[in-house]
Amino acid sequence: MKVEGVKLIREDGLRHDGRRPEDLRPIRMEVGVLSNADGSALVEFGRTRVLAAVYGPREPPQKFMLLPDRAILRVRYHMAPFSTSDRKSPAPSRREIELSKVIREALEPIVLTKQFPRTAIDVFIEVLQADGGTRTTGVTAASLALADAGIPMKALVGGVAVGKVEGVLVLDIDEVEDSMGEADMPVAGAPDLGLITLLQLNGVMTEEEFQKALDMAWDAIRRIVDMEKEVLRWKYNVGGDSK
Ligand code: ADP
Repeated sequence: MKVEGVKLIREDGLRHDGRRPEDLRPIRMEVGVLSNADGSALVEFGRTRVLAAVYGPREPPQKFMLLPDRAILRVRYHMAPFSTSDRKSPAPSRREIELSKVIREALEPIVLTKQFPRTAIDVFIEVLQADGGTRTTGVTAASLALADAGIPMKALVGGVAVGKVEGVLVLDIDEVEDSMGEADMPVAGAPDLGLITLLQLNGVMTEEEFQKALDMAWDAIRRIVDMEKEVLRWKYNVGGDSK
């Protein structure tokens, strides 16, 4: 999407939507939103709205895919035709196939797949409304949906993208900043493990900018994962740390 005439960094140093460079968008998280899935979550970062549903561990009909020592994790990221400003084709695009793989790799290191040999854990990520950051919102929603399904995990994961617009590093970019900015760096990981599981960079940053962007993302991911814990605690009414 190209939006002409939008000043990404205004005279007062704020962004086009009034946020400071280090601000996240308003975040909303809800778990257990679907009754027919084993686990589910709805996560919103501003206008970006993503639903995740988890089934499993279960024995799928395609048994030849199964592994003798652990569960396989399958992820499908899909954008609903009504999620974008121009209707998107419902057929899976190359981008969606790639993002499904990237998100699977962001989740796999934290799921205790060895506890469920010869089974499959399926994660469906449906982008209901896209306004930038759908892959990182998808990772966050999937982490919550896996926890809601009772799948044992080493930790929770969260994600956010940092961008560079008009030379300024900005946290949690939206679609306008993504499409008109100079760089876009989605990051996801598990702060409790000190583990980054997704790191991509589209565009150019200096080494110093990269380090600062990573620090901004990591600090935000801590806050995002803290919110995930809060939502799960509230839903399951459990006290203490969910580590
Ligand atoms: P992410 O959503 O993870 O930031 P991209 O950087 O590829 O992934 O996309 C940035 C944004 O561009 C998306 O969040 C969405 O708002 C928009 N977008 C992506 N693909 C499409 C598409 N096929 N049609 C319309 N808008 C799209």
